Amino acid sequence: MKHASDLKRNLFSIDGKSYSMYKELRGSYRFDGYILSLDRIQGDPFAPPSALSLQIPFEATGIPAEYLETKNRRITLQDYLTRRLAKEMEDYSFKARGSGKSGLIAISRCGQTVLERTACRITEKAVFVRFHVGFPANGRRINGRELEKILFQFLPMCAEEALFYRNMNPKHLERAIFLSDDQQFIREELKKRGLAAFVAEGAVLPRKSGVSDLPMKGAVPFQSPDSLKVTMELPHQGRICGMGIPCGISLIAGGGYHGKSTLLNALESAVYNHIPGDGREYVICDDTAVKLRSEDGRFIKDADISMFINDLPNGKDTRCFSTLDASGSTSQAAGISESIETGSSLFLIDEDTSATNFMVRDAFMQRVISRSKEPITPFVERARQLYEQAGISTILVAGSSGAFFHIADTVIQMDSYRPFDITEKVKELCPEYPDAAGMPPVFQLPQSRRIMSVPKELQRERQRRPLKVKVHGIDSFSIGKETVDLRYVEQLEDGEQTASLGRLLEYALEYLTDEKRTIPQIVSLLEEKLEAEGLESLFSGNAVCGFARPRKQEIVACFNRFRR
Ligand code: ADP
Ligand code: MG
Repeated sequence: MKHASDLKRNLFSIDGKSYSMYKELRGSYRFDGYILSLDRIQGDPFAPPSALSLQIPFEATGIPAEYLETKNRRITLQDYLTRRLAKEMEDYSFKARGSGKSGLIAISRCGQTVLERTACRITEKAVFVRFHVGFPANGRRINGRELEKILFQFLPMCAEEALFYRNMNPKHLERAIFLSDDQQFIREELKKRGLAAFVAEGAVLPRKSGVSDLPMKGAVPFQSPDSLKVTMELPHQGRICGMGIPCGISLIAGGGYHGKSTLLNALESAVYNHIPGDGREYVICDDTAVKLRSEDGRFIKDADISMFINDLPNGKDTRCFSTLDASGSTSQAAGISESIETGSSLFLIDEDTSATNFMVRDAFMQRVISRSKEPITPFVERARQLYEQAGISTILVAGSSGAFFHIADTVIQMDSYRPFDITEKVKELCPEYPDAAGMPPVFQLPQSRRIMSVPKELQRERQRRPLKVKVHGIDSFSIGKETVDLRYVEQLEDGEQTASLGRLLEYALEYLTDEKRTIPQIVSLLEEKLEAEGLESLFSGNAVCGFARPRKQEIVACFNRFRR
């Protein structure tokens, strides 16, 4: 391997020359105590910045080895180091000057959740960190002296401050690691106790604003109703109390503006661990939970939606249903059958974002329009079977229809941001309001056979040039000329997950489609690979900063929205 002194020498020799000569520096260099790699070098000062990585022997960092003991701990430690490095790099970014992105130093920006990212990967042997640097230029000429500052002064200082235990507050790191143990403990406890979710006393659920994920200041802290209170003995934090939402069908009822959706949103996000101070660090949900909503205009291919929709007037087969432009109800039906196939055991639904005719049909309507003229079996008639025959629970926000009271196991009323258990009261009232739901047709789990294939247009495009994946924030990406719209895949937390979805789709189309495998089969293969080798394994080469791992549920949702 080349030595840092070679790098320095080369830097000086190309100083003032054409910018593209920076590319000659590509490679790995041994520094005192670590290896620096220049993995991808930008072609001009205005192009996306260069990708670099740093590798330090784990032992040298002095971080206690027990912080790597479980997968959960490892991911938390990786997240912790990424945040520290981001903070250090902020101080040095653009301190070296020049045109375009000259002097930029940046690593992934982490939000309120702890995600697995390519920015940092730790094994028993080494810590790898991956980040971006804008190589400095004067006009379009190399400014080697400024890059020398970055590589030989700034980066070593960032690494020293951020990655070595001797410079950390050990209590602070311990707190992050212990919190993740406790979160994991609650998650496992949910399963043992037949709970779908847990919301701790004192949790802060609302966010600062629609565009900020930070906790709202002065919010009413969460308080559990006595009848739903559960107590757990956490390994580190000790005793904790909170509301346990039992498996089965749970309603969140209450007047408008009383905090129903805020509670549901917190549960959607509770499939991930949150960082200390977030307010939702002890809000934990079954991590297979899927938020379901209607999605007018969605693309659907070969989905079995016969559980909800049958006998369409146009005679279309709903066991293998396709459309370029789904209605509210067919999109929601497809969402459910696709989620069942991911092995999800909890559905989160807000009446406000659901198709009304998919959810319920009242008694009067049933009298006027007979069952034989209505293709839709509403969700209210299927929810119990989903739970009893497939083990899938539902937590549903219901503000306007009382139809769900008849099938609910638990009814929580939100009143001025405080939950009350009104199950008993509702059950007493039920006989006064006869159940409109009739006997639904026989229940059968969906059996889609969606073969994943490379669309002809993409095949043609690919023959001309390699397909390009372009990410547009968190909400969509394009592959070749095809855009995948993820706006309504609401549990994506970070644009880096969207970036990974783009790459996962590209990888699946290239290596895993064989005109036989279905989407769930392909996603299982991908999951195995990610689990064993990490996200990095989807890329050749090392220039892989800026990717975060999405859940299996989001990968499936993404592949199903890809127009083939
Ligand atoms: P609903 O779905 O019942 O109509 P939302 O959940 O949308 O109500 O909440 C209405 C408003 O109240 C939101 O602006 C939200 O930020 C705020 N809010 C929710 N929970 C709390 C709380 N615990 N403390 C203070 N404000 C809250
Ligand atoms: Mg609402």
